[in-house]
Amino acid sequence: MLNFYPGPSKVYPEVRQYLADAYDSSVITLPHRSETFMQLMRATVANLKKKLNIPQDYYIFLASSATECWEIIAQSLTYSHSFHLYNGAFGEKWYQYAHKICPEAQGQEFDPEEPLDVANLEIPESAEVVCITQNETSNGTQLNANTILNLFNKCKDQLLAVDATSSMAGLNLKYIKADIWFASVQKCFGLPPGMAVMVCSPRALYRAKKIDEKNHYNSLVLLYEKMLNYQTSYTPNTLNIYLMYRVLEQRDVIKNIDQHLVQRAQHLYEFFEPFTQFRPLITNPEVRSNTVIALQGPDKLVEEIKKHALANNIQLGNGYGKWARTTFRIANFPAISDTDFDALKDFFVKHYN
Ligand SMILES: *Cc1c(COP(=O)(O)O)cnc(C)c1O
Repeated sequence: MLNFYPGPSKVYPEVRQYLADAYDSSVITLPHRSETFMQLMRATVANLKKKLNIPQDYYIFLASSATECWEIIAQSLTYSHSFHLYNGAFGEKWYQYAHKICPEAQGQEFDPEEPLDVANLEIPESAEVVCITQNETSNGTQLNANTILNLFNKCKDQLLAVDATSSMAGLNLKYIKADIWFASVQKCFGLPPGMAVMVCSPRALYRAKKIDEKNHYNSLVLLYEKMLNYQTSYTPNTLNIYLMYRVLEQRDVIKNIDQHLVQRAQHLYEFFEPFTQFRPLITNPEVRSNTVIALQGPDKLVEEIKKHALANNIQLGNGYGKWARTTFRIANFPAISDTDFDALKDFFVKHYN
């Protein structure tokens, strides 16, 4: 089965061997306070920084999901007020989660067809964290590096937090241009679900220490204190840490992966151009995602395409949120090979041209 689902998505084929290696080396039952565990964690953090181009002075933490990262930001980096800019289902969900923890959280929606208008944006003075979604997985839009840079420049005392769940480890993100970045690993990392990576600037850490919130097992200062010794505050997903370490070992540097994905996305949008029964959900090429391609058509046809693809051993992604029935999505993640995409294109040429 070829899997183009945007999460959980295809894992690297090498994961099969790494799972066997984990079992044979008993890494899965490693005590999480042991020297061997700490070595594994240290090597994993080093690989993340090296392979993803994360600044040396940034901090790396592990959590169990991107959703948990939303909560950590609301608990540990916000006194009372975060400001959320969103154009789709994930950004909105983040806002809703934050709102439950910090009732003063404020959300502002923008048009998925338009770039975020940073120049005319009013960031509320009282907001402590500005929250954006780099790649909105629900509708296949993205914020480009320039938009994030301009927004970062506009933030004064505010921290900038970026949900990069469906782009971290796929795109060459400019970590230096924001304070908090996070992603769960079942998307561009090409790993099984159940873990997330959180990347924090020195400024974000300073804020966390100032707020000093310690009411939760996953409070950021507690994660920080444990991470000083390459440990976690809870029994972590050691298997996934090991798999991440191994996958990162064999991975190309992010600059090359980014280049490959951006070219492939460009090519895919061009490929789908001549099809008349469905079209990209987002018409403005400037804001289209490089890692998640959303295609829109009549709901009956969308249903039929997905079933038909499945019968041909191709798993397409369902639509999401308000686009659930009228779109299908195609992940353009690094673990998916060009050969997989050739088969996908053959399917569409053969049946829908
Ligand atoms: C998938 C996704 C999430 C949720 O990830 P979990 O690991 O299920 O918490 C959050 N944000 C974005 C942008 C996503 O694509």
